[in-house]
Amino acid sequence: MHLKDSVQYIKGVGPARFKLLNRLNIYTVGDLLYYFPRRYEDRRTFSPIAEVQANDFATVKGEIINLSFRRSRRGLSIFEIAVGDESGVLSAIWFNQPFMKKYFKIGDKLILYGKVARRPLLQMNTPDFELISEFEKDSSLHIGRIVPIYPLTANLKQRYLRTVIDRTIQKFTSFIPDMLPYELKKKLNLLPLTLAIRHIHFPNDSNSESSAYRRLVFDEFFLLQMIFALKRYWRNKRELGITHKTEEKLIKDFLKILPFKLTSAQNKAIKEIEEDMASSKEMNRLLQGDVGSGKTIVAAYALILSVQSGFQAAVMAPTEILAEQHYLLLSKLFAPLDVSVGLLIGSMSPKAKLEALEDIKSGTVDIVVGTHALIEKEIEFKKLGLVVIDEQHKFGTLQRSSLRKKGGRPDCLIMTATPIPRTLAMTLYADLDISTIKELPKGRVPISTVWVKESALKDVYNFIRQEVSGGRQAYIVYPLIENSPRLELRAATEMYESLRKSEFSTSRIGLIHGRMKRLEKEKAMQDFKNRKIDILVATTVIEVGIDIPNASVMVIKHAERFGLSQLHQLRGRIGRGSHPSYCILVSQAGATEKAKLRIDALVNTQDGFRLAQEDLDIRGPGKVFGPAQHGLPELKLGNIVKDMELMELARDSAFSLVKRDPELKSHQHSLIREKVKERLRSKNVELISV
Ligand code: ADP
Ligand code: MG
Repeated sequence: MHLKDSVQYIKGVGPARFKLLNRLNIYTVGDLLYYFPRRYEDRRTFSPIAEVQANDFATVKGEIINLSFRRSRRGLSIFEIAVGDESGVLSAIWFNQPFMKKYFKIGDKLILYGKVARRPLLQMNTPDFELISEFEKDSSLHIGRIVPIYPLTANLKQRYLRTVIDRTIQKFTSFIPDMLPYELKKKLNLLPLTLAIRHIHFPNDSNSESSAYRRLVFDEFFLLQMIFALKRYWRNKRELGITHKTEEKLIKDFLKILPFKLTSAQNKAIKEIEEDMASSKEMNRLLQGDVGSGKTIVAAYALILSVQSGFQAAVMAPTEILAEQHYLLLSKLFAPLDVSVGLLIGSMSPKAKLEALEDIKSGTVDIVVGTHALIEKEIEFKKLGLVVIDEQHKFGTLQRSSLRKKGGRPDCLIMTATPIPRTLAMTLYADLDISTIKELPKGRVPISTVWVKESALKDVYNFIRQEVSGGRQAYIVYPLIENSPRLELRAATEMYESLRKSEFSTSRIGLIHGRMKRLEKEKAMQDFKNRKIDILVATTVIEVGIDIPNASVMVIKHAERFGLSQLHQLRGRIGRGSHPSYCILVSQAGATEKAKLRIDALVNTQDGFRLAQEDLDIRGPGKVFGPAQHGLPELKLGNIVKDMELMELARDSAFSLVKRDPELKSHQHSLIREKVKERLRSKNVELISV
């Protein structure tokens, strides 16, 4: 017998039922045992009907004393049964399910479970039910205990699934290999697997259910963390990374020309990066810091380290506008050091691109800044030593690793302004080392954020004029319209045209959007930077990275359409200098509840970590990190946010096990080894052979 055996071996699963089970993704015995209940019903005690209250979820047991079938005035069919016990009567009602009547007859005994309403008699609308006659034989499974309720598909009944699962457990649990060594289970007080599987389906009480849950979630998390731990072990063991020099003249010169004093958080991050780069291990570090915390200069430091060691370095940014901004900033910053900086973006002329390719290949350019154009096939580096990826959350995993493959084993620094709560960091970025910049440069004035209705736009525009006359600048952002870049562009363009002719006819106003020609975009950004324009109407192309400290107003139209992290990023475009800054969120009536929660969150705090947590609470982890990008593992049972402590436990256990037995050679780790291998095969995770 084996977990991989087909469920058809189990009594009661014929070809028809097998097909139905397949719809639930159940093919093997293992699938069935790991098909977990959606919830439980406590049927150890039934409530006397006389004691149930409106709005309770209740389980009652009784006998059908009346049936009725009728149509409402609007033609809705209504099927109703009256169920009585010793204490009282309650009705159960089904709308538009005329077939229900064939399930019941007067005198049948049954159990009902559902939410109770009082209108004016006690009533359950579309309750779950089970007729007692149908399972009198094995009644211990379905009544008088805590009963599992599974997600179902049409024509498959709870009691059928329950029976089959029970049968499978009886027959197979002794064949389930338990990968966890006894010592570990003992230390962490984890149930044996067999027991956990039994109790997750048929718990004796809520304690046994939660211990079963704890054990099974631990398994899930543990396997995940084993993979991370092994990945890291193999990466470090190879020691084939680049050993960068740190104490040369170039870096000293760089420190002398810095335009400001680094914050202590920046210095700490720099130190961590320097240590990584100086070692023979491959650096794989995430630099996270809220918008405006000054990550760019930290990256610049790393770039210089690479150049002074005789290597090239590449910086990849998600938008052309940001790539150009970095290019201009770095060229200027490094000019006195005689370090050459090149640009590579998709919209360059073929000729310019060709030249750039040549320079990269021959090594005449030290640092290349670009968009994902950098990962195109024809691009070859002479000697790539460092890869920096800015605003990494905007890239897919694949794009990130492709750039890295352009070099021997370049060190890698990835940066993000989307701070994530700790547990998520432990899974999402588990094989990265993390540096965090928590402090903003000195002298920043907090941003005032307000939320106004469309009807207040006049005041908003007045306010902009006032700020502009005081020497400041403003952004007005128009959001994506139903994922249509074309519509977004049109809306932004129209708004620009109308503002230019009316409200701001005497101001200097400009427009920027993603579809403009490269030179036009460049000009718009330069004009804004050089204060030839006071007001910049923009689409979300300015969402990330843009750094113009004189801008003090950010107006976001249709704020209800933006996600929380996007709003936070946009707001991060202001408050970068020492002037008081204002973020004005304009929304239309009819924003959804979630939109209101998002906007409220933004108004109430400026702390990116708190916002990230709120975002997670509002949307859940799956949505926060779109599935394609994040590489967030699929979890059957565990919840990364709710089960944070277990994740930490699993992480500690996995990492310490790998430390003791990195190749999983010990006999008691053989099952873990097998599971990890299986997992890697099925997920197609790019990984060293274990
Ligand atoms: P982000 O972390 O969002 O990428 P940037 O690197 O763009 O932030 O920095 C934001 C602004 O803060 C820039 O104008 C930068 O010049 C400035 N800045 C960075 N570090 C410091 C510092 N230590 N002191 C003063 N200003 C700083
Ligand atoms: Mg940045």
